[in-house]
Amino acid sequence: MLDSSAHLSFVYLDHGATTPMLPEAIEAMTAQMASVGNASSLHTSGRLGRRVVEESREAIAQAMGARPSEVLFTSGGTESDNLAIKGTFWARKDADPRRVRILASVVEHHAVMDCVGFLEAHEGAKVTWLEVDQVGRVHPETVRAAIETDPDTVALVSVMWANNEVGTVQPVAEIAAVCREFGIPVHSDAVQAVGQVDVDFAGSGLDLLSISGHKIGGPQGVGALLARRDAALVPLTHGGGQERQVRSGSLDVPAIRGFAVAMRHATANRAVGAERLVALRDKLIRGAQDAGFGVQVTGDWEPGDGIRRLPGNAHLLVPGCDGDSLLYLLDAAGVQCSTGSACQAGVPQPSHVLLAMGMSEQKARGALRLTLGHTSTAADVDVFLAALPAAVERAQRAQVAMRPEPAGQKQMSQKQTR
Ligand code: PLP
Repeated sequence: MLDSSAHLSFVYLDHGATTPMLPEAIEAMTAQMASVGNASSLHTSGRLGRRVVEESREAIAQAMGARPSEVLFTSGGTESDNLAIKGTFWARKDADPRRVRILASVVEHHAVMDCVGFLEAHEGAKVTWLEVDQVGRVHPETVRAAIETDPDTVALVSVMWANNEVGTVQPVAEIAAVCREFGIPVHSDAVQAVGQVDVDFAGSGLDLLSISGHKIGGPQGVGALLARRDAALVPLTHGGGQERQVRSGSLDVPAIRGFAVAMRHATANRAVGAERLVALRDKLIRGAQDAGFGVQVTGDWEPGDGIRRLPGNAHLLVPGCDGDSLLYLLDAAGVQCSTGSACQAGVPQPSHVLLAMGMSEQKARGALRLTLGHTSTAADVDVFLAALPAAVERAQRAQVAMRPEPAGQKQMSQKQTR
């Protein structure tokens, strides 16, 4: 059996960006890569490929509490979000031109946020960004109030299942219930939630749900949009109409097989894995707080809780530090993690999520995201905690000296797209 973490000579605390592929998924995918056959071809090889696709669809549907016909394969979370939002917006507006409003949470991932921004800039969408509280949570009453200002003009609502930066889990089922009262389609980006918290499509009351392979131990570049059969979607890609006539393109059979194997594994082991991650996460947060630098935890953290905050998410604010500097210093010490900053024209920008939670720009600049996953161990946390003091001291000393560095000399972190 392959060991997907055997090659790691560093401590990897960036599972929220991507997690190592599960050995079972690597084996299934590589075995499939040796087979020829377009899943749309009618000959024997094509039919064998089709069978793999349909078995994978069934496995993913079963793990997600959906029907197989509700699973549309895509190239990942970003495409699923785009198809859900643009596809629904155009379909709803075509059916009734008054429907131009999009309500989306202010803490969405850029795959949702920039997609909504595109519709606003080019397609006449009117956007209401739904506010969050101090832990980054959208309240169902906020959604209701925004709808009630003019229910007939709302095209769709989108609120993510769990935030990729601070790990806050949203009351998705309650928000979906509000939308259903008004007959408004509701989408949720569950890319970070699957495998960490219980995600049940039918039970959620959602119309649309985005998922991705590489956050759960599957390959990169594959994902799915779960779409109720009555969800009207205008296609974004045109061609062979492979997926329910709304998504064209030859299916990536090996990736789909790897995705399904990972999905089965991630959901079957979720409860046990989550408990283990909660313990590691709490050890990491407590250790960082005890390091004596005034480190604060962001979002909704209660020790032992893996329901309101993602089990594997620790998001810290280190005072007097630039998160990017800390990231590079930790990286040099063999610990890989991420920040929440975006980079525009070479200048790091504080995260929109932290600003929406009411944080000052200066405070938000000291953000560090550490995300744990299936290969994480207590020893990884110990290595991080041992590396932290020296990194913080150097980052604090360097803050003033590093700020005026001309853009381009250092590779700044990109938009928080992970
Ligand atoms: N949505 C969220 C919440 C994410 O965290 C990510 C990736 O980090 C995406 C969407 C994009 O998914 P993908 O990388 O599969 O395109």
